[in-house]
Amino acid sequence: MQEAQIKEILIANTNAALRPFIERMDFEPATHCWCGGVLEHWSPEFELYLQCRSCGCKPVRFRPTVESLARFYSSSYWYEYQQVHKCPTVDERFEGDMLDRIPLYINWLRGMRPPPCKVLEIGCGNGRLLFELKQAGYDCTGVEMDKGLAALVTKKTGVPVHHGSFPPDNDPVYDLIVIIDVLEHAPDQINFVKNVKSRLSPAGKVMVHCPVLDTLEASVQFRHMFNPLSHLWIHTSASFNKLWLDAGFKAGKVGELFNMPVYAIGKI
Ligand SMILES: [Zn+2]
Repeated sequence: MQEAQIKEILIANTNAALRPFIERMDFEPATHCWCGGVLEHWSPEFELYLQCRSCGCKPVRFRPTVESLARFYSSSYWYEYQQVHKCPTVDERFEGDMLDRIPLYINWLRGMRPPPCKVLEIGCGNGRLLFELKQAGYDCTGVEMDKGLAALVTKKTGVPVHHGSFPPDNDPVYDLIVIIDVLEHAPDQINFVKNVKSRLSPAGKVMVHCPVLDTLEASVQFRHMFNPLSHLWIHTSASFNKLWLDAGFKAGKVGELFNMPVYAIGKI
């Protein structure tokens, strides 16, 4: 399919506010699932997502190229995009996150591994969770795709935040790795999990929070999770478990937040 045709379909099936982003990005049709499974038409309700015949995962039908994604997350696009989705600013989130999610995340993490130990958050955003974990006695490190935000959060919280998708290769291993609202953005799901595994101490644990939707009814109810430019994979419970199991991990649900499961994951 031609690039122009792809963009036409994307524009026809998204909010007009996304048009400038679609025009600045390059896309290619998804050819197979992360699991290697064949992709098929899913539902007329979701023209921009397909369904994997093997694992049930819903990959985006047109995947932004790696170059487009790098530009998207490392530039002002991402901020503009968040504004389109009416997301609060970094400072608003730093305050607001404390009122809902942070106390819950901290409880789950304490249950998985109490301090002192080393924690890495991948895609730490405004950094509030790491800031609070540091006060609780954890030794914290973050990574953030946005260079400006990484520097800002380091300064604001005193927690070292690397710029990128993962810390540098010579970085030590961690006892807890936190992945919140990030897995669905990773273009290469298998490599992402492998990379996480390589940075985990032998008895280390991973906490993941991401959209997981098992039925069409639930998907329609949480339609806002289907953002075709940034949410490249919407997992089902089965596809999520398979992704981690294939890498030698076992995932168990520790709770639920914003109607989506929170998982504690450890090596088998
Ligand atoms: Zn699959």
